[in-house]
Amino acid sequence: MASTTVYPGSEPARWKYLDRIRTRAGPFTDGDAYDGSMVAEAMENMTVLVIGAGGLGCEILKNLALSGFKNIHVIDMDTIDISNLNRQFLFRAEDVGKYKAEVAARFVEKRVRGVKITPHNKMIQDFDEDFYMQFQLVVCGLDSIEARRWINATLVNMVDEEVEDSYKPLIDGGTEGFKGQSRVIFPTVTSCIECQLDMHAPRAAVPLCTLASIPRQPEHCIEWAHVIAWDAEKPFPSLDKDDPEHITWLFKKALLRAQEFNIPGVTYALTQGVVKNIIPAIAATNSVIAASCCNEALKIASNCAPSLGYPNNNYMMYSGNDSIYTYTFKHEKKDDCPVCGNLARELQVDPAWTLGELVESFATRPEAQLKKPSIRAESKTLYMQSPVSLEEATRPNLDKTLVELGLSDGEEVGVTDPAFATVSFKFKLKFKKTE
Ligand SMILES: [Zn+2]
Repeated sequence: MASTTVYPGSEPARWKYLDRIRTRAGPFTDGDAYDGSMVAEAMENMTVLVIGAGGLGCEILKNLALSGFKNIHVIDMDTIDISNLNRQFLFRAEDVGKYKAEVAARFVEKRVRGVKITPHNKMIQDFDEDFYMQFQLVVCGLDSIEARRWINATLVNMVDEEVEDSYKPLIDGGTEGFKGQSRVIFPTVTSCIECQLDMHAPRAAVPLCTLASIPRQPEHCIEWAHVIAWDAEKPFPSLDKDDPEHITWLFKKALLRAQEFNIPGVTYALTQGVVKNIIPAIAATNSVIAASCCNEALKIASNCAPSLGYPNNNYMMYSGNDSIYTYTFKHEKKDDCPVCGNLARELQVDPAWTLGELVESFATRPEAQLKKPSIRAESKTLYMQSPVSLEEATRPNLDKTLVELGLSDGEEVGVTDPAFATVSFKFKLKFKKTE
């Protein structure tokens, strides 16, 4: 394979310009404190963790290797699917079915001499704090908010004021279609991912009544076929979203309904997209965001210029939806952040709700986004998801209203979720005034 051959003669040239930046003090370097002779060596001794080896991850690994980082680890539990090949450029057709982290690591190692990449085909939750302690920098290229929140909580928790090594800057990139963001978090010092959770509002669910009575958009017709028609007619024993026959059935149902309401735009591809909740991935967006993340990594590691996140702006958003727009701002740290703050976060509730309704609402509230919450008040346990005996004992509470359970306006409740084992979320109930 000619494309993976290393030409020895090209190596010194490869680092020429990078070394010019790294060895010389410049208008952006930190005056007297900058010692260019040490930078390359310091970077070579750093261990950097990359989380995710997908669309963003492939770009990040390549960029970090070409920015002079020599010791990189990468975590990804996924294997390569044929649909990844159009943008995850470290993978080839013969790699389908193999682990992403492993294939990506070997590819970059072959192309960039002297870099060592250690792959981990696992979940981030499989590792403990001792493992994360070995890194000086963490760069995330993930598509899951849950995984980001987990690593964020872990890194914030690891901070020990007396141990300088316990501060691990977190650089996070994310993309969705033509939009993306990159941000830098200095755990406990600047706003963390949990502080910024409202930047990732869960997609607004369409109320069932809209689906059932007056659809307005093609997506409503598809959701109707998916949620209502499928259950009513049960054309197959269970829905397999990867089975073209099943998607075709939903598509035809949705199309009939759309015609009935005169709504254009229902297609097979849209049906597949809505049912599988697919967000289109755009290679160029990944490339822009990964470049921004890796520039920040280089700046943090070398001090060659001030990085994002210190002392002011910490969040760069990028949109290619309508021409090109980028905006960089400071997202403030929140005192009521369940991870890095210490105050309870306010939660608007209706006192007439049942506990079950409150528990369910945690999944969709932008400020909580917890799928399996267990909840306790100061003096008693309200509902526990596990163990089984406790779940059974507390289940009857789900049908009681907040008032019946003796909860009052302004009362604090603690919420835990198995996805974030180290965090106890504190909420202060704020009763909605009834007229
Ligand atoms: Zn926070």
